[in-house]
Amino acid sequence: MPARRARPVRVLVDMDCVLADFEAGLLRGFLQRFPGEPHVPLEGRRGFSVREQYRALRPDLADKVTTVFEAPGFFLDLEPIPGALEAMREMNDMQDTQVFICTSPLMKYHHCVAEKYRWVEKHLGPQFVERIIVTRDKTVISGDLLIDDKEVIQGQEETPSWEHILFTCCHNQHLALPPPRRRLRSWSDNWREIIDSKRGALPLDPDRLGLPQQ
Ligand SMILES: [Mg+2]
Repeated sequence: MPARRARPVRVLVDMDCVLADFEAGLLRGFLQRFPGEPHVPLEGRRGFSVREQYRALRPDLADKVTTVFEAPGFFLDLEPIPGALEAMREMNDMQDTQVFICTSPLMKYHHCVAEKYRWVEKHLGPQFVERIIVTRDKTVISGDLLIDDKEVIQGQEETPSWEHILFTCCHNQHLALPPPRRRLRSWSDNWREIIDSKRGALPLDPDRLGLPQQ
């Protein structure tokens, strides 16, 4: 009889601000494109929407900052978040662990979607291209964990199957999370422990136990 093993833990990993440094790329692009205009330094970022914060700074800056991330090459040229690529490779090699990249494209998807695929191939290789899920609604995707920097993730499914782990980023670091919500402060933080915390709670898979199916 095979050893008793639970089904794999499925981890969904967001892309912008978790794998790819959207915020740093955006600020760099804004300063290059609009050098005399006021800007929001990374330590001053608050709230998920960069567009809304620039609008509050001065209404016409909302459209200006948007042109930066809608420009061709923006997503492709983003730098990896420190430790992200190494963590993804290690996670993908872990026993009983499934890793997917789960990303929401801009509504102006023309450059963004293809560049996200190219970014993954460039930095992580073709085996991770097979692991990309592009969706505007992450609540309908099933998983045990979703590692994402967006503070509130909503969609059609009121009770998603995953636990949302908030990945710390400049725009969310000041937020106090109500228990039992958990954070991953960076890729140096203990993501392995978070994955392992899901193993005991999983229902056993009868296929892998060699038990008769009902
Ligand atoms: Mg993100």
